[in-house]
Amino acid sequence: MRVLLIEDEHKLAAFLKRALEEESYTVDVAYDGETGLMMTQQHIYDAIILDIMLPKLDGFALLSRLRTQGDTTPVIVLTARGAPEERVMGLDLGADDYLPKPFHLEELLARLRSVLRRSSPEKAVRLQCGDLLLDTRSRTAYRAGREIPLTPREYSLLEYLMRHKNQTLSRSLILYHVWSNMDIDSNIVDVYIKRLREKIEIPNAPQLIQTVRGSGYRLRDPQPSEEPHT
Ligand code: CA
Repeated sequence: MRVLLIEDEHKLAAFLKRALEEESYTVDVAYDGETGLMMTQQHIYDAIILDIMLPKLDGFALLSRLRTQGDTTPVIVLTARGAPEERVMGLDLGADDYLPKPFHLEELLARLRSVLRRSSPEKAVRLQCGDLLLDTRSRTAYRAGREIPLTPREYSLLEYLMRHKNQTLSRSLILYHVWSNMDIDSNIVDVYIKRLREKIEIPNAPQLIQTVRGSGYRLRDPQPSEEPHT
């Protein structure tokens, strides 16, 4: 289980990181909102622990951006004690739970287990990009209602693209997440993208996997507003 902790108080962050690691979580820490948001775009986390008062981008703005992008990672917000409006706003913006500061470690751990339990059976069971659907439980892809047979690696690549749709992903980022190995030739990414395209693209339909010259690839969600008006 990989957890992202976004907390600008270094001492608290270090304490929580160590405590969570003792519970066998893998923990990444971001000390400001911008970095935190960037990290959510680079990794798939099982849960996010999010402080509200943060430099650069506050927790509310970050949460709102996350949900707007379709990221359904469970989020626990750390709110100020005696600030019920923070709790309400956090939940309204799509937080899964909240914890007023200061809190007991045991309570955070219990809430974390609880959001993970709630989210895992159906966590983003269905990812969607236009008429491309991914059932992450059965690891099956469908385009326009037809099942697309994928190898495990092709599936992993497609899931990664879909979890980060509309974002440009570099070859090295893809390599890191899909192959968990930075030492192999990044040409393999091009090879797999080509195979995926052959399987998921449909003639005369908008191309979903786009090449971003000099940067990498992007899975583009065809917005209705971008379709030609006739
Ligand atoms: Ca803070």
